[in-house]
Amino acid sequence: FDQVSVSYAGKSSLFRPARKVRAVNAVSFQLKQGEVLGIVGESGSGKSTMAKLAMRMLKPEQGEIRYRGKALADYRGRDENCLRKEIQMVFQDPNASLNPRLTIEQSLREPFYLHDLGSSIEQHEEITRLLKLVGLPVSVLHRYPHELSGGQKQRVVIARALALQPKVLIADEAVAALDASVKAQIINLLLSLREQLGLTIIFISHDLPLVQIMCDRVLVLYLGQKMELASRAAIASGGAHPYTRALWASSPVADPSRRLQREQLLQGEIPSPLAPPSGCVFHTRCPQAAAICREKPVSPPAQSDAHQVICHFTQGNSV
Ligand code: SF4
Ligand code: MG
Repeated sequence: FDQVSVSYAGKSSLFRPARKVRAVNAVSFQLKQGEVLGIVGESGSGKSTMAKLAMRMLKPEQGEIRYRGKALADYRGRDENCLRKEIQMVFQDPNASLNPRLTIEQSLREPFYLHDLGSSIEQHEEITRLLKLVGLPVSVLHRYPHELSGGQKQRVVIARALALQPKVLIADEAVAALDASVKAQIINLLLSLREQLGLTIIFISHDLPLVQIMCDRVLVLYLGQKMELASRAAIASGGAHPYTRALWASSPVADPSRRLQREQLLQGEIPSPLAPPSGCVFHTRCPQAAAICREKPVSPPAQSDAHQVICHFTQGNSV
């Protein structure tokens, strides 16, 4: 992602014409091969938009997304076909991802049909291998989605995403709808798949404690802008950006030593993305905001910095 921005038309009403909403604003980051990168933020922070951009469901208006050094928009023909296989996505709701009228076997055969891969027997062998990979018994093949638990369905969805042997897996709130114990199982599954298959994972979630457990690096977004990009360790110790610290303070973590002072709790509502605040977009809710924050946008950090903090006061002070 290089300085990527995208807007969509805001809702229009009788009294107000549609206005453009910046969903993602000049966000840059580099995905490293084999890493789990977390993207975290409240709703409306642009997390899912990032996923859609990577999946080419949206085109950047400004900036460029490159994969293997080549802009996504420049992929054509055979290369484009490869790209489609190499980047796969898992969504939050397995019910929306699986056709209720197809058996699990039929659903798992879909990607092979779409890409015209293998004979029926070869496909069956592949499917059996995939089930093993995601820890499901072969007996699920003849069942329908409604006969499976939420966790089992999400395993099927993951198996299907792995069918074409992707290099990058994007999980958008992939465990948000699951119970705590099932959530942990799916997290462990994703991490073991990453080990076994050398996957690179983009893990999108509103749940900072979860992201911190799961990811090597974390990108914190607020109103479509990058606030902080840091290693797991830096995020685990509270993060450096006031927004990251506020996210920690307002998350119900079990370990009370992680909870920061009350004054760091998030105050107020998220401003409308239709009218993003001037200066630093976080200034209306930031406990440390000063006059400069209202007036002057924070200049972007060097892309080469391992720890990026987009704040007038903490920029450059961190490792
Ligand atoms: Fe808060 Fe100012 Fe830093 Fe923005 S720039 S996060 S308003 S202190
Ligand atoms: Mg979302």
